[in-house]
Amino acid sequence: MDFKLNDDQTMLRDTIRRIAQEQFAPKAAEIDASERFPWDNFEILRDNGLLGVNVAEEYGGAGAGQLALLLVLEETARVCGSTSVILTNQGLSSEPLMIAGSEEQKSNFLYRLATGETPGAMAITEPNAGSDVAGMKTTATKVKGGYVLNGSKIFITQAGVAGITCVICYTDKTKGNKGMSIFVVEKGAKGLIVGKPEHKLGIRGSDTRELSFEDCFVPDGNLVGPEGSGFKTLMNTFNYSRPNIAAQALGIAQGALDAAINYAKERMQFGKTLSSFQGIQWMLAEMALAVETARTMVYRAGAMIDTEPNHPDIPRICSMAKWYASDTAMKVTTDAVQIFGGYGYTREYPVERMMRDAKITQIYEGTNQVQRIIIANQVLR
Ligand SMILES: Cc1cc2nc3c(=O)[nH]c(=O)nc-3n(C[C@H](O)[C@H](O)[C@H](O)COP(=O)(O)OP(=O)(O)OC[C@H]3O[C@@H](n4cnc5c(N)ncnc54)[C@H](O)[C@@H]3O)c2cc1C
Repeated sequence: MDFKLNDDQTMLRDTIRRIAQEQFAPKAAEIDASERFPWDNFEILRDNGLLGVNVAEEYGGAGAGQLALLLVLEETARVCGSTSVILTNQGLSSEPLMIAGSEEQKSNFLYRLATGETPGAMAITEPNAGSDVAGMKTTATKVKGGYVLNGSKIFITQAGVAGITCVICYTDKTKGNKGMSIFVVEKGAKGLIVGKPEHKLGIRGSDTRELSFEDCFVPDGNLVGPEGSGFKTLMNTFNYSRPNIAAQALGIAQGALDAAINYAKERMQFGKTLSSFQGIQWMLAEMALAVETARTMVYRAGAMIDTEPNHPDIPRICSMAKWYASDTAMKVTTDAVQIFGGYGYTREYPVERMMRDAKITQIYEGTNQVQRIIIANQVLR
C-alpha cells in the first residue's frame, strides 16, 4: 500500500492550505460569532474549482477523486469548521446524483453543484426520524407528470441557501425501505417552505433549518434513480460521504493540536514554558498520536473509494474512519482547551470554537452509535 500522496494531491493540498491559512483563518472567529453563512468563502472555494473535487470533469468537477476531496476538507476544517461544512454538504448533496442520477440530472443538477452555481442540501432527518430513517413520514404521491411531496424535514444544512436539495421520502410506505425514493427539489418550488435558522453550539456559520413540503410538485425528471431505490442510494451515499465528515473532524483536531503546540511553547508558568513540563508534553504526544491515527484511517477510506469503489468492506472502513476521527476531534479539542487553561475557555483563542465545532462530527451523517451498529453488522455477517 502506497502511503505517499502523488504530485497532484500534494499540489492540491498545498494550494488549499495556503488559501485556508490566508483567506479562511482570519475570518473564522467572526463567522462563528455572527453566525453568518460564509458566502465569501463559498465563492473562494467555487473560484478555485474546489466544490466538485471528486466529481467527474464532464459534470463540472475536477475529477481528482475522493482522497483529493478529503485533503481539501482537512485543510479547510483545520482553520474554519463552518467553511468546511460547505464542502461536506456539497459532497453529500452531489453523491446521490453521482450514484443514481440520469445523464440529464448529472448534466444539470450535478453540474450546477460541482461548478458552485449554487450550494446544495440533502434532506433526510425528520422530527421523529433521525437515526431510524425508516421512521420518516414525508411522502411523494404520483400525479400526472410528476409527484407531490408532503411532510417536513429538520436540521437541514444549507436549507436556506441551497438551490438544489435532494429529498428522501416514501413513494410506497407499504414496501418499507424499498418504498423510498429520492427527488431533487429546486429552490422556489411551489410548496417548499424554508424555516428559520437554528442557533447551534458549533459550526455556527453553517445554515441549518427546517424544510416543509406542502403539496410541493416535482416533475418526473427529478426522481433520482428508479422509484423505490432511495434507501439503497442513501446508504451508498453515506458510505462515500462519511469519510468527508471524518476529514472534517481530522482537520478540526489538527487545528487544535497546532494551536496547543504553539501556545505550550510560549506560555510561561513557574519560570518555564508549558512545553517544558512532561505532563503537557505527554498530552501533546497523545493528541498527535490520535490525529495521526485518524489521518491514516481517513486517507485509507479515501484511497479505497478511489481504487476499489465497490469493495464490500467500504461501509466498515468508512464508518470506522468517521467514528474514530470524530471522537479524536472531540478529545483533542477538549485537551487543547485544557492546555490553554482559562484563556482556552474564552473567545480570545480559537480552541473553544474548535471544541464546539468538533461535537457535530460525532452526531451527523449517522451518530457514532449508528457507526457501531454498521461495523457490528459487517463484522458479524
Ligand atoms: C447541525 C446539524 C446539521 C445537520 N444536517 C443535516 C442535514 O443536512 N440533513 C439531514 O437530513 N439531517 C441533518 N442533521 C440531522 C442529523 O443527521 C441527526 O441529528 C442525526 O442523524 C441523529 O438523529 P436524531 O437527532 O434524531 O437523534 P436520535 O436518532 O433520536 O438519537 C438520539 C441518541 O440516541 C442514540 N441512538 C439512536 N438509536 C440508537 C440505537 N439503535 N442504538 C444505540 N443508540 C441509539 C443516538 O446515537 C443518539 O445519541 C443535522 C443535525 C445537526 C445538529
